Amino acid sequence: TAAQPILSVNNIEVIYNHVILVLKGVSLSVPEGGIVALLGANGAGKTTTLKAISNLLGAERGEVTKGSIVFKDDQVEALSPNDLVKRGCIQVMEGRHCFGHLTVEENLMTGAYTRKDGHGAIRDDLDLVYSYFPRLKERRSSQAGYTSGGEQQMCAIGRALMSRPNMILLDEPSMGLAPQLVEEIFEIVKLLNEKEGVSFLLAEQNTNVALRYATYGYILEAGRIVLDGDAAALRDNEDVKEFYLGVG
Ligand code: ATP
Repeated sequence: TAAQPILSVNNIEVIYNHVILVLKGVSLSVPEGGIVALLGANGAGKTTTLKAISNLLGAERGEVTKGSIVFKDDQVEALSPNDLVKRGCIQVMEGRHCFGHLTVEENLMTGAYTRKDGHGAIRDDLDLVYSYFPRLKERRSSQAGYTSGGEQQMCAIGRALMSRPNMILLDEPSMGLAPQLVEEIFEIVKLLNEKEGVSFLLAEQNTNVALRYATYGYILEAGRIVLDGDAAALRDNEDVKEFYLGVG
């Protein structure tokens, strides 16, 4: 039997600037301990969906005008992004957003801001992050702004881990990275899922890689889910092959 959902998004509608309807009734769910891919072309609404979940739309004059979002059995639409982080769900934004003038380690430490436990526990988690990302350990004293794109993506994921999340919303981790690095990052996602039990919702334009690591996928087109299914079934689906996998 399928695991209980850790996250469910039920028929949400999102409007920007009071008039622009961008999500037209999106529903999806992520099972506890799952890796789920949210796929679709540029502009389909993937980022908007993730920001709706983490309540980050306000800064862009967007709002959820219909539907509900449930995380660990609680309705969370009204929670601030920080409160959601405290409950265990954190977003890693597209474009990575490291603080360029801080060192890699200082960036990681900023990820512990919601925590009240002691310095020792935070130090242990820093070591945990370094165990998954040995490159970050090597670069710990470098200014993040001078590290590579791949290292910045790792730093952004590492910083999210410092909040001890149960769920990470990961926006376009492959963006701008060479194929080998994309693979390296997805391998770490898989390890974090298996060993730390972190559930993932991954927004990706790179359908090919996302469907190799996710167990389930949703395809978004112009603000609606047009197809969903087990990753293996989506990889074999003729429409997915033709429109998203560059085959056919
Ligand atoms: P990307 O790969 O670019 O992140 P996406 O699938 O994540 O694409 P969104 O960024 O969610 O798509 O954008 C969905 C739609 O919403 C697009 O048509 C975009 O132009 C529009 N949109 C995004 N942000 C705003 C905003 N602040 N105000 C108005 N429209 C917006």
